[in-house]
Amino acid sequence: LTQKTETMTDLKGKNIIVTGAGMGLGLAASIEFATQGANVLLVDYNEQALDDAKKQVSEKNPNGKIAIALADVSNEEQVKAYVKQATDTLGSIDGFYNNAGIEGRQAPIAEYDVNVFRKVIDINLFGVYYGLRYVLPIMQAQGKGHIVNVASVGGIRGVLNQMPYVASKHAVAGMTKNVALEYARHGIVANAIAPGAILTPMVAEAFKQVNPADPKAAESEYAKANPTKRLGLPVEVAKLVAFLLSDDCTYVNGQIIAIDGGESNSY
Ligand code: NAD
Repeated sequence: LTQKTETMTDLKGKNIIVTGAGMGLGLAASIEFATQGANVLLVDYNEQALDDAKKQVSEKNPNGKIAIALADVSNEEQVKAYVKQATDTLGSIDGFYNNAGIEGRQAPIAEYDVNVFRKVIDINLFGVYYGLRYVLPIMQAQGKGHIVNVASVGGIRGVLNQMPYVASKHAVAGMTKNVALEYARHGIVANAIAPGAILTPMVAEAFKQVNPADPKAAESEYAKANPTKRLGLPVEVAKLVAFLLSDDCTYVNGQIIAIDGGESNSY
């Protein structure tokens, strides 16, 4: 699959915040948004990844504003600061890709480390909530805005040995429904995506946990269960999110949109 975006300008001039922009889905989306002409504030807690991401994203929109914010989304003060930085440097917030998240470790429920459990909830649930808490009033004052939260297939079904992740992603799905109920009247459109296995550093790490001796075998096994017989690519998710953050997305609201090659039809 190749990325054919050169002639697209759907997000031209839009100001977009992306959390977890240092790698994986957040980076691929930031590249897509910049290619379409958007200004992007890249947020991540990994400084090195953030610097590398800034270089890659800036190349796609050399005349746009590409800024970075070093922040941990589970820290409310740092969330407040990145949102302020967005309004200070970009002016408005047209789009918010509330994407940062972690998987945690894989273990059966009774053996799950409670501190890791809390960390997954702090980042995946409270991180998404804090972002909404500070972005929503700005979009409400603007009278418009688009939000995409990142749930997961784990936000619509269970996933073996990943209960905290599943709990946090069901919460993201629930919060998204509430945002639509409470803020559609203010011109805000909010949806969540539920990706299946997409080839990012997070998923590569998960396959290492499933089969430390042969992560590639775990990957092939996983792909077999998918109707497409392959994993998804970050750019495929980026295209969906670009639509959901665009002015063309007006009446799809409060939905949890699976992007998984059709696999969720077999659950
Ligand atoms: P990744 O680990 O490849 O990248 C995540 C990025 O987020 C990293 O740059 C990391 O530094 C950053 N990040 C993590 N916690 C953070 C925090 N507290 N504050 C700031 N930055 C933080 O992961 P990915 O696969 O790109 O996942 C992105 C999102 O998509 C996550 O919410 C994940 O749960 C979700 N997701 C991914 C898949 C998949 O198959 N890759 C499937 C379903 C859902």
